[in-house]
Amino acid sequence: MSKTALITGSTSGIGYTIAVAFAQAGYNIMFHGLEENGTKLAGEVTEKYKVKTDFSNANLMHPEEIEKLIKATLEKFDTVDVLINNAGIQYVSPVEEFPLEKWNSIIAVNLTAAFIASKAVWAGMKKNGFGRIINISSVHGLRASEFKSAYVSAKHGIIGLTKVLGLEGAGSNITCNAICPGYVKTPLVEGQIRDQSKAHGLSEEEVVQKVMLKKQAVKEFIPEEKIAELALFLAAENSSAITGSSYTLDGGWTSQ
Ligand code: NAD
Repeated sequence: MSKTALITGSTSGIGYTIAVAFAQAGYNIMFHGLEENGTKLAGEVTEKYKVKTDFSNANLMHPEEIEKLIKATLEKFDTVDVLINNAGIQYVSPVEEFPLEKWNSIIAVNLTAAFIASKAVWAGMKKNGFGRIINISSVHGLRASEFKSAYVSAKHGIIGLTKVLGLEGAGSNITCNAICPGYVKTPLVEGQIRDQSKAHGLSEEEVVQKVMLKKQAVKEFIPEEKIAELALFLAAENSSAITGSSYTLDGGWTSQ
């Protein structure tokens, strides 16, 4: 029987690429995100890969909507075999001007939502004797950059959550791992390139080479497909011994 993967924030960027790769591998997919074309994207994937899909636009800022998202997924597919906590937001500002509401939203979406979703799928995974939780952290889960106090805190936090769930899932064949990418050219990063270009008076290409990729030894964006391949590997039945770990895909950033 086909397994089911729920990928938060899968109507854009990295999450969408992961969802397509999992569909291609035969997983049924619960799409999720705030983009308006979610139903259309899910339909296209069903058509192309002949798997079951559905879509939810639950707002991860609201705990009760996250619980509804898990309930809807269970109603449609019976199980959530793989949960990928991918949805994320960013805000960049010096700490003394960082708005508290931006801090709260980033912690809610990038960290608390992963806790609530993992908690809600846990009993089902335990009952099935199988579960894979994959958290999309960031190189900023392991290293800091200026002006990203909330994002860096949330991404470090999710690595802590990953370790704890890894320990608690041992014995029930539930694993939890994190992926820590460097820069990936998605809508989230395209917005940052535009903002930084204005802020520093640099061309967008200069921002990419001189600011963004400065800390990566490999001066190229990380391909989204590579993140999807790693997620598929971590989701596999025979990856059961890999748990509580964080995997970098950062072009050598954290080697320095
Ligand atoms: P993206 O902006 O393309 O996609 C983010 C997704 O999250 C969208 O589908 C959006 O609708 C969803 N989302 C945001 N807020 C939400 C909310 N309140 N409720 C429900 N859904 C919400 O971003 P991306 O670059 O693909 O990022 C995906 C993940 O990868 C994030 O966690 C991000 O921090 C992480 N990441 C990205 C990069 C990068 O360079 N792009 C690097 C490292 C880690």
